[in-house]
Amino acid sequence: MNLLIFGPNGSGKGTQGALLMEKYGVAHIESGAVFRQHVGQGTELGKKAKEYMDRGELVPDEITIPMILDILGKQGDKGWLLDGFPRNMEQARKLHEALDKAGMHLDYVVEILLPRQVAKNRIMGRRLCAKNNNHPNNIFIDAIKPEGDTCRVCGGPLSARADDQNEDAINKRHDIYYNDVDGTLAAAHYFKALAGQDPRMTYIELNGEGSIDSIRETLLSKLK
Ligand code: AMP
Repeated sequence: MNLLIFGPNGSGKGTQGALLMEKYGVAHIESGAVFRQHVGQGTELGKKAKEYMDRGELVPDEITIPMILDILGKQGDKGWLLDGFPRNMEQARKLHEALDKAGMHLDYVVEILLPRQVAKNRIMGRRLCAKNNNHPNNIFIDAIKPEGDTCRVCGGPLSARADDQNEDAINKRHDIYYNDVDGTLAAAHYFKALAGQDPRMTYIELNGEGSIDSIRETLLSKLK
């Protein structure tokens, strides 16, 4: 089972991706995490990638595409969930080409739809509980809105992550994601068109404005 997941930063992609991994027992291949690992280990690739990552830019395709295709080639029969790749049209075409060549195909492509302004509010509204990072608090989401500046779960003190408040950085990432000419949305739509012609491939669109549970239910109802 091979899956792709698309969704802007702030869409709950991580949560729904975890559900897919649990259901199908597939490996999680997250391009951002792979890069962070290289940076952490100080590899040559990590050194090259870091300067782009620090600027919030995409690492060049010459580095990213072979790195991801190499990892995919080493996976076993259980398959994988690819997350964070492809992020542009070139990556999408190369992925499709490589799968075709290897006699592989995608089973599901999941896109979480969320208007850009909503995604931005969600990121900027996130608050961290000093007592437990997993306590969900967001001043812009009614269901998990904290009481003043204390955690809605345990009453602990809340703070905002500095990078969540950096509007320039958020805009830069969203410029890449919401670009439907040759950016990430274009890549998603490329696979949507392919799914329309390939009965082995199912394209699932989820409304990211629903609650986590309702998105989860919709997703589960669409999976075989
Ligand atoms: P992420 O954790 O997905 O936000 O990724 C962190 C950083 O890794 C990004 O800002 C990019 O610099 C780099 N990166 C991750 N995935 C890709 C990709 N598919 N293509 C190019 N750069 C990527």
